[in-house]
Amino acid sequence: MERISRETGREIRVEKGLSTRIGGIKAAFEPDRKYIIIKIRDDIEEDDVNIQESIIHEAIHGLLYYGKGYCFPESRFPPTYMERESVNILISMVDDIVVNKIMQDEGVSPIGNVYLGMVKKETKAAEGSTDIYENVSYDPIVKSRFMVYRFVMAWGYLEYYKVTRKERKILERFLESFEDAYPDEFKMARDIVEVLSQNDDFTSDGHHKAMMEILRLWELDNLIVLRYYS
Ligand SMILES: [Zn+2]
Repeated sequence: MERISRETGREIRVEKGLSTRIGGIKAAFEPDRKYIIIKIRDDIEEDDVNIQESIIHEAIHGLLYYGKGYCFPESRFPPTYMERESVNILISMVDDIVVNKIMQDEGVSPIGNVYLGMVKKETKAAEGSTDIYENVSYDPIVKSRFMVYRFVMAWGYLEYYKVTRKERKILERFLESFEDAYPDEFKMARDIVEVLSQNDDFTSDGHHKAMMEILRLWELDNLIVLRYYS
């Protein structure tokens, strides 16, 4: 955390008042002129051990924008619910590959037991045709994009991270069951995987191009401009 502060020249501030709850998230980065702001849920305390990894994760998002020259999306006009959540999902999907890689390089495993447990549940649901994503959102587009994000995230772990054999098996089985169970989402996920394969997400330039492409795929390119801080 100190290093992130030093590299960005910004103080990190953790505040309550997180608005989005999609996918059970506990903390989120919020753009600011001066600080690295991390919003946490009102019912969570800043020194709670269970939230420390989430706070570090969100601070690394700040490091990407303020320290490493990565772009971030900004709306040209007030977004609808669907657009706002789609952009949130997009940020998680594209930026987290880099954020989690930095965490792994620092010795913090991004593939936690909580994540793997969730993937196993999702695999079981896909194989048994139960709708595990039912409560993600009332909006079918948001729900569908959230599912795509789950696929791309698992693919990213296999593509870019050191994983154990056991982890590999769990992730591969999830991807296979996803393909069989959700053909529409699989098609979109495959397009996004293609975009990420052609643009190096670990450089600010490749990341920018990947973001542009996916904004077009999701028809958000009229709403969003990609901006830089530095
Ligand atoms: Zn993230």
